Amino acid sequence: MAPSIRIGRLFGIEIGFNWSLIFVFALIAWTVATQVLPFDVPGQPALAYWVAGAAGAVLFYICLLAHELAHALVAVRNGVKVAGITLWLFGGVSQLEGEPKSAGAEGLIAGVGPLTSLAVALIAFVLALLPLPALVADLFAWLAIVNVALALFNLIPAFPLDGGRLLSSFFWWRSGSRQRGVHSAVRIGRLFAYLMIAFGVFELFTGSVLNGIWIAFVGWFLLSAGSSEEAGTAVRGLLRSVPVSAAMTSPVVTIPDWLTVEQFLDSTAPQHTFTTYPVHDPSGQLTGIVRLGDLVRMPAQERTTQRLRDRARPIAEVPTTRPDEDLAALIQRVGSGLDQRVLVFDNGRLVGIVSPVDVARLLAVRQQLGGGVPPAGATRGSPSS
Ligand SMILES: [Zn+2]
Repeated sequence: MAPSIRIGRLFGIEIGFNWSLIFVFALIAWTVATQVLPFDVPGQPALAYWVAGAAGAVLFYICLLAHELAHALVAVRNGVKVAGITLWLFGGVSQLEGEPKSAGAEGLIAGVGPLTSLAVALIAFVLALLPLPALVADLFAWLAIVNVALALFNLIPAFPLDGGRLLSSFFWWRSGSRQRGVHSAVRIGRLFAYLMIAFGVFELFTGSVLNGIWIAFVGWFLLSAGSSEEAGTAVRGLLRSVPVSAAMTSPVVTIPDWLTVEQFLDSTAPQHTFTTYPVHDPSGQLTGIVRLGDLVRMPAQERTTQRLRDRARPIAEVPTTRPDEDLAALIQRVGSGLDQRVLVFDNGRLVGIVSPVDVARLLAVRQQLGGGVPPAGATRGSPSS
């Protein structure tokens, strides 16, 4: 989930938030202002409750940020790059690029989040004991409880929660294999997810409908997150230490962007087997990429009037890479951007294109080889479509 709004940088880490957060912010402020505080500290003016409620929501997100920042900073210290932190509907997400190098590092990165929440809870608890106005003291007490809940929720042993990662680091440490660690953790996580769904359904019929739906939904979310974590780990395992150059289609044919779509389809396209072409302007500067599939779907009359540059995806929007970048790292970095193709540049020169088909073909080969690492260069340089 991409951050919609960037807030800024903190300790060198990009912080942003998603629009879904505004809804939850309002929900928290409303709950604190109308449910929590009037019950604990009755007889205050409505405005005081609402100001405290809004302050509570802000403090809640600061606590969430502290939790995520702890993950990110420990990750950086352990040599894992962090793309940024995004706050959204379910809380915070630290986007790590690449994987921890050891079971110990993974355990530390995962464990420091709940520990931070517990530390924040302790601070809030101490503040609540100080001789402050009743409303403020009660707000801190609420914050202490919320942070304990945050720590406990994150310790549920299921992906993508911290508890799931702690469990996986434990099994990694015991078995010596990250993939096996993830596999064992996912199996236990699945059990917890099913238990949550069952409890949610039970609650739905016997207790609160809203609570039941919510618990079952979280269970379902954990179930699917576990499966995708396992699949992702297997793919990354196969692609680790494989350079982009092993998968890319090379060389690349670039096309003048002033050709009409019809000229291109009649004269140039039949001579090649490529499905994607970078286009360039009269000075030779790349201006974008076009995909054969998009062009052939155009109505016939538009093909004669529209030029390739009118239909091209602007070059600024196309993700790029180097031939020596790790393929697993590239996929983690661009994500679904791979569907739109990635251009490979070597010292400013365009040397290849990577598409999902290229990666799938490489994966098929690696799977048949049993995931073994071939000698350096063995999968390189094979000309492909
Ligand atoms: Zn966490």
